[in-house]
Amino acid sequence: MSDAIPQADQNHVIQVAVPRPLHAVYDYTMPADMPLPAVGARVRVPFGRTETIGICTNTDVAQPHTKLKSVLAVIDEQAIVATELLELAHWMTTYYHHPLGEVLATILPAAARKGASTTIDPYDFWQLDQQDFNKPRAKAQMSLVTTLRENGPTSGTTLVATGHTRATLRKLAETEVVSRTRPPLDQDLEAGPEPNVEQQTAIQKILAESLVESGQSSSIYAAYLLDGITGSGKTEVYLRVIAAVIAAGRQALVLVPEIALTPQTVGRFERRFARVGVFHSGLTDHERLQTWLKCGTGEIDVLVGTRSAVFTSFRDLGVIIVDEEHDSSYKQQDGLRYSARDIAAKRAHALKVPVIFGTATPSLESLHNAQRQRYEHLHLTERAGGAQLPTYHLIDLRGQILTDGMSPPLQHVIRRHLEQSSQVLVFLNRRGFAPTLLCASCGWQAMCPHCDARLTLHQAPPKLICHHCSTVLEVAKSCEQCHQHSLMPVGLGTQRTEAGLKALFPEIPVHRIDRDTTRTTRALEAQFERINHGGQCILVGTQMLAKGHHFPDVTLVVILNADAGFLSPDFRAPERTAQLIVQVAGRAGRAQKPGEVWIQSYQPDNPTLRTLIEQGYGGFAEHELKVRQTVGMPPEYAMAMLRADAFDARDAQAFLEQCKASLRGIEVMGPVAAPLARIANRSRYQLMLLSPQRATLHAALRGLNPPKANRALRWSIDIDPYDSL
Ligand code: ADP
Ligand code: ZN
Ligand code: ZN
Repeated sequence: MSDAIPQADQNHVIQVAVPRPLHAVYDYTMPADMPLPAVGARVRVPFGRTETIGICTNTDVAQPHTKLKSVLAVIDEQAIVATELLELAHWMTTYYHHPLGEVLATILPAAARKGASTTIDPYDFWQLDQQDFNKPRAKAQMSLVTTLRENGPTSGTTLVATGHTRATLRKLAETEVVSRTRPPLDQDLEAGPEPNVEQQTAIQKILAESLVESGQSSSIYAAYLLDGITGSGKTEVYLRVIAAVIAAGRQALVLVPEIALTPQTVGRFERRFARVGVFHSGLTDHERLQTWLKCGTGEIDVLVGTRSAVFTSFRDLGVIIVDEEHDSSYKQQDGLRYSARDIAAKRAHALKVPVIFGTATPSLESLHNAQRQRYEHLHLTERAGGAQLPTYHLIDLRGQILTDGMSPPLQHVIRRHLEQSSQVLVFLNRRGFAPTLLCASCGWQAMCPHCDARLTLHQAPPKLICHHCSTVLEVAKSCEQCHQHSLMPVGLGTQRTEAGLKALFPEIPVHRIDRDTTRTTRALEAQFERINHGGQCILVGTQMLAKGHHFPDVTLVVILNADAGFLSPDFRAPERTAQLIVQVAGRAGRAQKPGEVWIQSYQPDNPTLRTLIEQGYGGFAEHELKVRQTVGMPPEYAMAMLRADAFDARDAQAFLEQCKASLRGIEVMGPVAAPLARIANRSRYQLMLLSPQRATLHAALRGLNPPKANRALRWSIDIDPYDSL
């Protein structure tokens, strides 16, 4: 190969970011017979003993003295990563202390990362060109032609769904009987309800302040915290703002939590706008890349997507919306630990477009930003369409005799609501039958052999499952330690609650919704359909029930145990628990019937719980922000976690000790064992880094000098961690 390389001093040298840890960019020479790639284009390069695909980040590099390898192929004629995204990538590199090549690999859809073509698939929408086509013996072709003649242009998916085949379609296309055509834009779109006064105020503020003038394709950056109680019509505000953005010929990006991207959500956007795209992990790599590209060409007006959709390339993005901005799924929890919420703000700023953060339970970060006037705080305090907010009631569990976790007063309330033919929602954030299998004779508990965690007892079929490493074990008949036949399940999971409810209310259907019953969004959607058309029933489930769904017939929401969340050692536990309670409570009484929320607790005087119930989420959040301020935690302080895990605890500990020695000018706590000290046989340690100044924290991290770790040790930097577990 070396004889193909022209004289070294005539060679152009480019810089390439490759998806590998440690180094950000590498130099390569360009063979003379190859076009110079654009900055942001993909190139195939040799790397170590293999090849990889990287992104060209610089084409103007001085010739170094060392001998360089040369580029193997230029994949893109034009940049696949536009300047704006490339700049975002550079920013992420410094903010998240992560190599550029890996940042770029995260930004690109998987198929693009693997070298897939950037050609957009032709329209899969078909029209009949030969009206007089008549081949009586080609039955399949005749039938398809008849369909098109009767129904007009039709999508390929619909044709296949109604019994035609792709082969027939291909045949007719080859003989020019049918051809592809653009899907029509003039579908029947809904106008939506007339906004109420609060909605109108929010919409007008956003449009007037940041979208300079409707119909004009320029805007300014502004961030809004749309703080609206559940059911107050936040989505309606988004839809109106998006309509104005599309009218100006621009595009909109709507981020939604992972679990919320159901056909229900997408349908709401599709009924209002003609060209809606979706982006989530349930699609194939090809589908995701196609959507990404269509946003780039402007063929899609509104993209609704989960976390990684924040990196989509747009022709002319006019607004970014982050729905349920408090949701944990916006934070990537491994690899490049980015926050899509924070990146949305960053991108909006760079693009000079408005960004809207909507929620009923704002994250303390966003409230903090609103207090400092970085975000404009907009309020929706009433339920749209006149529905009532539920009332809260607390049940003191002390001294009560419980039946599968349910106190007598609670059973009474459930019965009362069922007698009014309403639906009841029972919330418990724990899957399985019981979180502990305990020996009544000697106190032994079934522990995961690989984690410092108890095994959860599941039923039907009976198994012991570790919720941390997924180990599945048979349930022993007798105690491992004393061999007595005295094992008993302790504590409550959703399976046990389901069984208990069925026993108490044998005539009422009980639907359980958790990760074990509902693995796909399709299954979840099917269950919601059944519930919303099914009349009287009891729903029991985990936080899957909490997120953005609408159950018009639910009048009672039960929180079986409010204490578990507040007891967690994590600094964010009260915030997370309060959000969960308010979100679950928000499922009640969303239609015409008023709702009630009943909460069971062994600590009914817990001040956090009291504040939440008596003053609402706003009062709780204000109090909690002060606590964080006093103890020096985020959002008042900037935080990062350095985590390390290894088979030998001493390796992880020693690694972090050495890291600590290189960190200057900030508060460093640890190394300490993580609250979950061992998962999948790996011992986990952590350093908590804090500083009142974000810049100081970053400066300290730039000085971080991690020792060369052996292969068995894994470590990571987590900026703005979601939890300290
Ligand atoms: P949120 O997103 O704040 O939870 P939604 O946007 O889902 O609330 O609105 C709750 C319900 O109220 C939806 O069924 C929606 O169609 C309806 N709705 C929203 N705005 C109005 C309005 N101005 N008038 C009547 N109904 C409305
Ligand atoms: Zn025992
Ligand atoms: Zn385990």
